[in-house]
Parts: sequence; structure tokens; C-alpha cells
Amino acid sequence: MPRPKLIAANWKMNKTISEAVSFASELRTALPSVPDHYDLVLIPSFLCVRPVVEALSGARAWVGAQDLHWEKNGPFTGEVSAEMVRDAGAMYVLVGHSERRHGMGETDPVVAKKLGAALRVGLTPILCVGETLSERENGLQAHVVERQLAVAFTGVAADDARATVVAYEPVWAIGTGRTASPDDAVTMHKAIRAWIGGRFGAPIAKAMRIQYGGSVNAANAGDLLRSDEVDGLLVGGASLDVVSFVGIARSQATA
Ligand code: PEP
Repeated sequence: MPRPKLIAANWKMNKTISEAVSFASELRTALPSVPDHYDLVLIPSFLCVRPVVEALSGARAWVGAQDLHWEKNGPFTGEVSAEMVRDAGAMYVLVGHSERRHGMGETDPVVAKKLGAALRVGLTPILCVGETLSERENGLQAHVVERQLAVAFTGVAADDARATVVAYEPVWAIGTGRTASPDDAVTMHKAIRAWIGGRFGAPIAKAMRIQYGGSVNAANAGDLLRSDEVDGLLVGGASLDVVSFVGIARSQATA
């Protein structure tokens, strides 16, 4: 059975509550035009998670958070735990986004703790991995991504790993307008799937969804989604406008 494609909107630090709720309401109206085998996920700021969950109640679309802390509670001012994210009604959570790895000093072991916390409470983690431009120029992309996977999945059991989505997001493609070619994306997705197969076995590698992210828009989404290796897209800038986001989710239907 083909893996359902997952199109996720990472809104980063954008949208007030009222803007997020009106996007969700417009998305509800547009959902019948999105193919049935596509799962859509909105990933707003923490403050908007609950309002967006309520605005999408009963609709075929889900909500995620952009980050989490690995402890359940305690003296961690400004942080939000996996339990709190789950309690707010989110189903997904981004883990190890490059803006956190490279902008906030988030290390591979920290990413591993966050992945473990998400799995502990039954959230679906979207584990972001990807190489920098200089790493790609030095041919290190597979090596870097395999290291990120190896540390993130330390101590994770195969049954838990199955629930994880991996997002391949080359750092040089995020917010730059520069997209990986479909061939380059597929090569990296195959490398990721092979690593998952080696670590957790072929059935889990076959079941796991691997998204591509990095300057996706409605014009390039169809080419990226064409391959069976690309199980969806993680979209930043082009997800802020509902027409653009729905256009991405429909790009295969209209190709
Ligand atoms: C992202 O934030 O994960 C992302 C891929 O951003 P953009 O689509 O803007 O490159």
C-alpha cells in the first residue's frame, strides 16, 4: 500500500491567533479539493496550537507544534513539554529543525532527548535532518544525515521508530529560494531509508514517511512529489498563504 503523503506547514514565528484561525477556516473549506491520500498538518506557534485544533475540529487536517522540551515539567522557564503539546491537541511535533540546530545551538543529543519525549507521549515527531552548503560541497551530505539519524534514534525501539516522520531538509535550501533537484532529493531519501532499514529492519523502512523540505512552492512541488520516495513536503514560507499551501497539496492532482 502506498504511504500517504504528508504536507506540513511550518509557520515559524508568524501569524497571530486570529490569523491562524482564519487560515484554518479557509483550509477547511478547501479540503475537499485535496486528494484523499494526502495528510495536511498546520504547525503554528505554541500559542496558536489550541485555537487551530479547535478551528479544524472534525476536519481531515491535523496540528503540530514547532518544538518541545524533553522534561515533563519543572523549572524550565519559557519551555513547553511534550505532555503540554499533546494536551493542547497537537498530533505532530517538529524535532531538530535546522533553525533550532543552527540558530539556537541545538545539538544531536538534545534532538535525541526531544525525539524520545515526543514518542513517550504518542506525538508523531517530524525529525528534521539535513546538511549545510559546505557539507554538501564536500560530498558529506549522506554522512551528516546518517550521523544525525544515528544520534537521534539512540535508544529508540523499532516499534516506536515506526511512528516517526523524517524530513530531509538541506540547510542551504531552507528559506533561500534554492530547492534540491528531485533527483538529489530522491538520492537522499533513499540513503535515509537505507539507514532506517539497516537500523530497524526493512518493514519499518518501508512504512516510514520521509518528507522533503526547502523552498518548496506550488510551482516545484509536483516534480518533488512525483517520486514514490518523497512521502510529502515540509513547507515554510509558501505555507503562510492558504491558496499557496493548498496549491502545493494539489500540485500532483493538477500536474
Ligand atoms: C522549513 O521551515 O522547514 C522550510 C522548509 O522553510 P522554506 O519552505 O521557507 O524553505
